[in-house]
Parts: sequence; C-alpha cells; structure tokens
Amino acid sequence: MSTQSQTSDRPLDFIRQIIKADLESGKHRQVITRFPPEPNGYLHIGHAKSICLNFGIAREYNSVCHLRFDDTNPCKEETKYVEAIKEDVHWLGFDWGEHLYYASDYFDRLYEYALQLIRMGKAYVCDLSSEEIRRYRGTLTEPGRESPYRNRSVEENLDLFTRMKNGEFDEGSRVLRARIDMASPNILMRDPVLYRIMKASHHRTGDKWCIYPMYDFTHCLSDMLEGITHSLCTLEFENNRALYDWVLDTLQTPCHPQQIEFARLNINYTVMSKRKLLQLVEEGHVQGWDDPRMLTLSGLRRRGYTPASIRNFCDSIGIGKRESWIDMGVLENAVRDDLNVHAPRRMGVLRPLKVVITNYPEDAEEELEALNHPKDPSMGTRRIPFCREIYIEADDFMEDAPRKFFRLSVGREVRLRYAYFITCREVIKNEEGEIIELRCTYDPETRGGSAPDGRKVKGTIHWVSARHGIRAEVRLYDRLFTVEHPDMDKEKDFKEFINPDSLEILPDAILEPGLADAAKGDRFQFERQGYFCPDSRESRPGRPVFNRIVTLRDTWAKMRKKQP
Ligand code: ATP
Ligand code: MG
Repeated sequence: MSTQSQTSDRPLDFIRQIIKADLESGKHRQVITRFPPEPNGYLHIGHAKSICLNFGIAREYNSVCHLRFDDTNPCKEETKYVEAIKEDVHWLGFDWGEHLYYASDYFDRLYEYALQLIRMGKAYVCDLSSEEIRRYRGTLTEPGRESPYRNRSVEENLDLFTRMKNGEFDEGSRVLRARIDMASPNILMRDPVLYRIMKASHHRTGDKWCIYPMYDFTHCLSDMLEGITHSLCTLEFENNRALYDWVLDTLQTPCHPQQIEFARLNINYTVMSKRKLLQLVEEGHVQGWDDPRMLTLSGLRRRGYTPASIRNFCDSIGIGKRESWIDMGVLENAVRDDLNVHAPRRMGVLRPLKVVITNYPEDAEEELEALNHPKDPSMGTRRIPFCREIYIEADDFMEDAPRKFFRLSVGREVRLRYAYFITCREVIKNEEGEIIELRCTYDPETRGGSAPDGRKVKGTIHWVSARHGIRAEVRLYDRLFTVEHPDMDKEKDFKEFINPDSLEILPDAILEPGLADAAKGDRFQFERQGYFCPDSRESRPGRPVFNRIVTLRDTWAKMRKKQP
C-alpha cells in the first residue's frame, strides 16, 4: 500500500532531514519511532497526523514504529480505549507488528531508576502539598523557593520512597521530586515531581502499585528502553525536552533518543482535545465517540471517510515548526478527491416529490442503462428500473420559476438522467396548498436522454422509480460548531457554539433499488447530492440508514465568498 507520504517531488520536511542526516553520518544505523497515546479517550484527526508521521517514517526507512500506551494515570485510563486505539491505527493502514508496548510494563524498571536518582542525591521525597509545591515553584519572573525537605539524606529518602511504594502514606501526602534547580528559567526544571501516590487500580497492573510515575519521567525512559532514535512530539513539549535530557543524562543511560517537536494539527470549526471531546460525549451533545460529526477517527470512519483520504490529508498539510490552522474544507476536500475517483454513482432522492407520467402505460416497466462512473468505464454500467410513477427531488420543481431555473416547472421540459425527457403539465396540491404530485408527459423518442430531432434541454435531474425504489433514512451533517475557534473565547464555554443544525434527518428518502444491498464500508456518490455510505451502526436490511460523508462541492467556501 502506498501512503503517498513524502513523495519525491517535494523537499523533505525538517524532521526527515534530521533523520536522513543521522543515517548518513552513521549516528544511527536504523531509525525507530513510536506513537505513544494515552489510553484515556479515542484518537482524533490530530493523532492521525502523528501516526502518519511516525509510522510513515518507519515505512519509508523499512523500519519499525512502536505503538506504546502511555498508561501512567490509572484514574483516567481504560482497556476499552486501548482496544479502540489499536483498531483506529490499523484502520488508518499502519501496523506495529510485534512492537506493542505499555509504559506500565516498565514500572519495575522505572522504580529502580528512581532509586538510582535518590542514591545519586538527584531525587528526594517532598512532604509539601501540591498547593504548596505550586506556590514554592515561583513564576516566569521570580525564581522558586527550595522545599524544606530538599536536603533530606539519601537514607531517609530511600526509606520514605520505599514506604510510599508500600502504601504507608496517604494520597497527596508525599511525592518524589527530582533535585535540579529551583532558580532555573525553565519552570519545568524546578524540582519537578517524578512520582505521586495514587491508590487506584491500574487497568493492567491491578493493585500492584500505589505510586505512579509522571509523564516526564516515564516517557524518556520508555523511549530509551525501547531504543527509540527519534522521539517526535508536539510543540507544547518543547520545554519538557530539558527534563527529558536531564533524566537520561543524569542516569547515563546506554542510549539517548532525540526529542523533536513539530506543530500540532489544528482544524477550525471543531475542538480537538480529548478532554473536550469527552465532555461532548458525556453531556450528550453527540451520540458517542463515533458520532459522525466528531473528528475522532472512529467518527470519521463511521461518517464514511476513507483511510487513504486521511493519510493524503496528513501528507498535504506537511510537518512544520509553526502553529497554524487548517481549514475544515481541506479535510473535506481530501475525502471528496478520493471518492470522486473511487465511488460508484447512484441515484437517490432525498426529499421525494411524486411524478406521474400520464402517457406511460400503467403496467409497463423497463430497465435503463446507467454508467457507474462518468469518467471510468472500467466501473461498468448497471440497469435501473423505470415506470409510470417516479420520485424526483422536491426542489427540482418550482411553480413560479424564474427564467434561469433550468429544472422542472409547468410547461418546461427536462431530462431524467439516463431515461427520457419529460414535460410538466399539471401540479397537484393538497388541502393545505402543498404540492404533493406532478403530472408530466414523456417523449418516448428520447430514451437514453437525447432527442432524435436534436432539441436540447437545459436541465438534467435525478429520479427513482416509485415502484422499485427503496425507502431509507438519510442523515445530513454539518459542522458541529458555528464559529471557527469554539474553544478560544475566554468568556464563553466552547459548548455555547455548538451548531444546533449539525444533524438533519431525512426519514423518507427513496434510493435506487440496487442500494438495498449496500454493505458496511461501501461508499457511493448519489448524483447531485454528495457522497454517502450506510451507517455502520444503525443501517439494517429493510431499514437502511445512509450518512452523507460530504457534499459534492465546498458549500462553505461559496458562502464565505458571498459574504461582504
Ligand atoms: P489531547 O490534547 O487531544 O488530549 P494528547 O496529546 O493528550 O491529546 P496523547 O494520547 O498524549 O493525547 O497523544 C499521543 C500522541 O499524539 C502524542 O505524541 C501527541 O503529541 C500526538 N498528538 C496529539 N494531538 C495532536 C495534534 N493535534 N496534532 C498532532 N499530534 C498530536
Ligand atoms: Mg497527552
């Protein structure tokens, strides 16, 4: 499978330049990367950027990328997230082979390293409360103050840390801290906490531990233990690099991976952090982590995005050092581009209006030939049934139509796609004055969609046979938020910007009969309406449910252009 990542016609990004140089200089013989999710939520499109980078590099260099669960916080982590993350990475098209790891597998060794730091006089047990630690830490402009426990003897520290491990102390009563520099301009270096007491069961180690290592202590040592060469992370970890290096340098570990930071992916009209996505789920603003409006990988999968389109998207945005925002339209275009090539064409009427073709014999029916793809003959043709009663899209008819309305109106002629020319003769309304049916006539000479006399029609509309069509529920999605940056308003909660119209359910769409066999994973273009797929969770034989993946064109770009 091709990931299309870093195709040769583009200069290498700065990370690949570093890797290339390291291989050429002989610093490394092989590059080893890792993707280190914390199993406290589902993966989102931001993680896809990191996955494509880390696994992509491994693939380009015929090497391996480790999948390592960064599971150091038992209060927030669960096995169900581990399983979902594995499924998502596989779905994106990547594989870790035998290189599946858990930070929790290293707890014994991390504990030994902590003891070693204590023996070196580089770590101490501190009895300040977390609030006091914060106050002692100082600020960007003021140095911190040393903890009164900073100068405990090695013996006392060893004794206290062992007893912390044995469960003798309460949560929050003591921590293990690195002994670095309370005056460091980098606040993270002011005696950071390495271990805290948490009397919680861990999803893998059970009740074996009641002290758990912090991210900064765990991550660098896990990388080192696995022989990672390049540890790629997002820019917010820039200040953590000094601590990453301090731990490995101080312990004089046999290898020392290089941490390199890159800009995280930000997309407008959405929120990206797992904490906020969790809120949307828990408070019922969406139906779940895989709600098709969520930019989680499971949401995008259910929505109908292809893995290739996400990989192409990640490739197209590139890897850089500067924070930037990517327009949601770029992601939508990526799936549009992919489906435009690969999705077979079908006809589906989303808001049906019945048309009776009065000069078509009552009991007759026939099959017409339709192309599965207008530009790709290899996708073949199919036969679609036609009869006296059909459905067309309600908004393809207009009563008092302006001259430029090229669809149906009384007295006007249009082409039914792959079928005949029809002319509207009469409008039938109910008692409320709503249009419920059109009476039309067809020209039998125009079978297939052209007139032997050469007369032209301006409009071509889609349709489905009323006798043969299948009824389906169709769900149309819009962006989940109404503003570009829902979580950047300091005064307001991001949930105030939820788009109340982000889901529109059309319960009575009529689809061409072949779509009754649509299976999970199938994707179609419904002509003139966009790309659709059966909903993997709720579609059933006899009660199909289709999701619109994306519209045919970027309607948002058009709207923005119209605004002054
Ligand atoms: P969130 O901020 O959404 O909670 P996280 O960074 O806490 O995400 P992790 O599970 O720790 O989630 O992330 C695993 C990896 O994915 C990390 O290496 C992280 O840097 C990377 N990552 C997370 N979000 C993004 C993003 N928006 N763009 C690129 N990489 C990301
Ligand atoms: Mg994190």
